[in-house]
Amino acid sequence: MNGFERIIVAVDLTEESGQVARKARALATPASRLSLLHVTEPINSAYFDGSPYVSVAVNVGAFDEEIMRHKEEIMASLGDELDIDTADRHVLRGKPAYEIKEFAKQAQADLIVIGTHGQKGLGLILGSTASSVLHGAPCDVLAVRIE
Ligand code: AMP
Repeated sequence: MNGFERIIVAVDLTEESGQVARKARALATPASRLSLLHVTEPINSAYFDGSPYVSVAVNVGAFDEEIMRHKEEIMASLGDELDIDTADRHVLRGKPAYEIKEFAKQAQADLIVIGTHGQKGLGLILGSTASSVLHGAPCDVLAVRIE
């Protein structure tokens, strides 16, 4: 085997995603298949308190759909920028670290590429997505230091 063949790039769809995905692109060989993966945590309940006296319940279903639509749009432009096949752009629902590992397992990935902020203090204690993915990852993990 020369290099990694099946690469999963975990993206949070912030402006940092380009940095992480470009690193993965640079590692890929012409034989590599690269997939972008974003995981959205479902909104179980949303309740907006406008004042101590007035509360406004929002339509959670519509809000959730709007978020998913927006994320699909960001994923589309990131995928276009990096020339990733449309079939290899995934927006899933669930717990990010868990879904990233499950997806990598199903795809028989040999590398997960993920960003890291090099957490310190409380962030280190609470853990980051990168450290959660590292624990129990089914394959190699590259943590890309976000500048
Ligand atoms: P953080 O846990 O916020 O420090 O995120 C670090 C990295 O974890 C990001 O750069 C992404 O590579 C990955 N990540 C965070 N949240 C998600 C998500 N919801 N879906 C996919 N990857 C994510």
